[in-house]
Amino acid sequence: MKYDIVIIGAGPAGLSAAVYARRAGLTVAVLEQNIYGGQIVNTPEVENYPGVGRQTGVELAMALYNQAADTGADIVLEGVTEVRLQQDPKVVVTTGGEYEAGAVIIANGAKRRLLGCPGEDTFSGRGVSYCATCDGAFFRGKEVSIVGGGNTALEDALFLANNCSKVYLIHRRDQFRGSKILVDAVVAKQNIEILYDSTVEEVTGSDKVEAIRVRNKLSGEEQSLPVSALFVAVGLAPENSLFTDQVELSEAGYIKAGEDCCTSCDGVFVAGDTRTKELRQIVTAAADGAVAATAAARWLDTH
Ligand code: NAP
Repeated sequence: MKYDIVIIGAGPAGLSAAVYARRAGLTVAVLEQNIYGGQIVNTPEVENYPGVGRQTGVELAMALYNQAADTGADIVLEGVTEVRLQQDPKVVVTTGGEYEAGAVIIANGAKRRLLGCPGEDTFSGRGVSYCATCDGAFFRGKEVSIVGGGNTALEDALFLANNCSKVYLIHRRDQFRGSKILVDAVVAKQNIEILYDSTVEEVTGSDKVEAIRVRNKLSGEEQSLPVSALFVAVGLAPENSLFTDQVELSEAGYIKAGEDCCTSCDGVFVAGDTRTKELRQIVTAAADGAVAATAAARWLDTH
């Protein structure tokens, strides 16, 4: 299969790139290994994407998908297993076959970071969860905990508080990283108890999660909280091992690029959370998609 542009990832960045590339008259394949929409499908409510008011993450994902599909982009559910980016044409190998491309846009997003404490792995899927929207309903009426201090942890704590009897929000510092509007809402919520300067040391239970051991970093005191679930919301990490040696990565593993979305490899562009950038938001991911597709179209014109 041969396309002008192959886009890796069907989140807001990849789908926006597809729209712009199709409007430039190019043939486009978008390859996605998991689920269209990327991380936003795990977001209970999106209220800061301009022009659309409040929507669930799934609704926004569907709208992005439909818009890209309507332009005529081929959106394919196949995971990428290998890339050969430094040749012409470039080759992207997937679980379903081989794609040749004039230019490639990497928009594979970032993955959830693990907490790394004892018991996290053992109880994963049995009370330890990385998606409050997906799993919160299983713990209706119960006491649960969530760890993290960013927008995800704050939004998810609010979501859980509407379903669960009590939510312990555990953050390792005394200041949240997330937006003030969410911090204020969390602080005002009666059934959320915030444990600042605290870390989760261990998840315990027999068959499923029964408690977590939490340590206050200042006093050194430890306590066991009897909860049915631990939601982990400690941020994102890039997964770019496929591209090592072909495009330059930062020390943290993000693909190095500026606002022009150009990578160190000719004809390879990058959009969204997977690149080095200041602000990882849906709107900046979508903007990157537009920039990357336009840059790729120009590059194809001259090569
Ligand atoms: P994030 O902003 O990177 O926050 C991660 C949080 O986890 C930080 O508070 C961090 O603590 C904490 N953390 C990291 N490693 C930890 C560890 N090992 N143990 C305990 N705590 C740990 O990640 P995010 O909340 O997933 O958000 C990702 C991006 O999406 C951000 O840019 C965010 O703004 C954006 N987002 C936006 C919205 C929205 O605008 N509505 C919603 C969700 C996400 P420190 O603060 O001490 O570093």
